[in-house]
Amino acid sequence: MSNRTPNTPRNAESERPESTSRRDLLKLLGVGSVAAAAGGSILLPSTAHAVKTRARIVIAGSGAAGLAAANRLSRALDGATITVIDRRKEHIYQPGLTLVATGVWRPGKVVDANRRYMPSGVEWLDAMVAEFDPEANRVITDAGQTIPYDYLLVATGLKVDFGAIQGMSPDLIGREGIGCVYDNPDHAERTWQMIDRYVNQGGTGLFTRGPGGIKCAGAPLKVTMLTEDLATRRGRRSDLEMIYNSPSGGLFSQPDMDRFLREEFPSRDIAINWHHRLVGIEPELRRATFATPDGQARLDYDFIHVVPPMRAPDALANSALAWQSGPFADDGDWMEVDQHSMQHQRFPNVFGAGDCVGTPIGKTAASVKAQVPVAVDNMIAAIAERESTSTYDGYTSCPLITRLGRGILVEFDYALNMVPSFPFISPYSEHWVPWVMKDRMLLPAYNAMLRGRI
Ligand SMILES: Cc1cc2nc3c(=O)[nH]c(=O)nc-3n(C[C@H](O)[C@H](O)[C@H](O)COP(=O)(O)OP(=O)(O)OC[C@H]3O[C@@H](n4cnc5c(N)ncnc54)[C@H](O)[C@@H]3O)c2cc1C
Repeated sequence: MSNRTPNTPRNAESERPESTSRRDLLKLLGVGSVAAAAGGSILLPSTAHAVKTRARIVIAGSGAAGLAAANRLSRALDGATITVIDRRKEHIYQPGLTLVATGVWRPGKVVDANRRYMPSGVEWLDAMVAEFDPEANRVITDAGQTIPYDYLLVATGLKVDFGAIQGMSPDLIGREGIGCVYDNPDHAERTWQMIDRYVNQGGTGLFTRGPGGIKCAGAPLKVTMLTEDLATRRGRRSDLEMIYNSPSGGLFSQPDMDRFLREEFPSRDIAINWHHRLVGIEPELRRATFATPDGQARLDYDFIHVVPPMRAPDALANSALAWQSGPFADDGDWMEVDQHSMQHQRFPNVFGAGDCVGTPIGKTAASVKAQVPVAVDNMIAAIAERESTSTYDGYTSCPLITRLGRGILVEFDYALNMVPSFPFISPYSEHWVPWVMKDRMLLPAYNAMLRGRI
């Protein structure tokens, strides 16, 4: 069980007692402790206890956080006008992209449709937010519409900044030995083609990681280890020189996992270049340039896994909602929220969740699962003019897949303490259960999260 202190739920009336069997199932799905983070038990808002209101609520973004929030709010409120703004129709199960890029899953398995999860009664605008204007309580869409709101939930995710690497463009993925697991199933599938060819042909493989806050910081590590495992299983390992390039002096923010990886990589003959940040690529020459403390270093490659820096989408980054100074402004113009309440610190009718927020913790679907109930609960408290007490303790998790069939379930919080949900799985060594979770169980759990059911 989690060793964290459960929070007091805001809206106790709207909670249903959870049956033991359901709780056990949720634990198996790897969501036991995130549920605790959301208030000590699973929060299932029911219309029977809905808060009556005429509030106008805008949700920017219909990804993991936006859909989960839309479902929860539409069940918890009676009479509110809820508008979701996002042009994207396809829903990508992003945690599955690592498995697509390493040949385990077919790309179709991660593609779904947002309409299947959009609650009825919600207005879904086929547009993007072009401008956030929190002083005037309105957003302006790229279609020129002005949408006023009483409450705003920002869930725009992030932008993978390919342009920050000189010579790099998404079109290059799948050519000249270039892969990148991020952004969409097409990139992941083309990355798999490059990895498959690299393993068969051999040579030097460079594995990179963008600096600062990136989504699923485990993904660059998983791609590295699954490539190494594939080469070993094919009997091709001795023909590969593999080099992981860390932009910092570490491999993982959680210290126990960092220690594990510092031993694991050398033991599998994966060399590590510390303080190597990818800044340029010359595809025809198959050469990459890294910024290092000693100046620029140029390395030749046969395969490179490019992981660009990531930042808030432009509309958010350029708005007053972004952090105006400090590490989260410098890193990626992330959205300013109180890291515990998910409420904006300067605009109290604005809340944020998901990859777009500037909080000192990993950007994962597990974070979304824990953040959304808190943001929604605190928005409802504001609407009902009650004191808000739901808090997010920074819970995040990553099934760190180390090889086919094995992984480590890493769960930690703002204090970087391990907070394991399962006493029978060590968070410090490889086990088959995290693999089964990643391969079989997390997708249905993710879809239940989108529906606001867990
Ligand atoms: C390769 C990879 C592996 C991962 N592995 C894991 C894992 O193992 N475990 C885990 O928990 N997490 C994992 N994640 C992370 C997880 O998928 C994300 O953290 C999660 O999807 C973030 O949800 P979100 O709602 O913040 O953003 P998204 O789901 O990306 O949604 C953002 C939405 O906002 C929309 N949007 C953007 N700009 C605007 C705008 N201006 N106006 C309106 N809408 C806008 C977009 O169109 C999009 O629909 C992984 C991610 C990747 C890429």
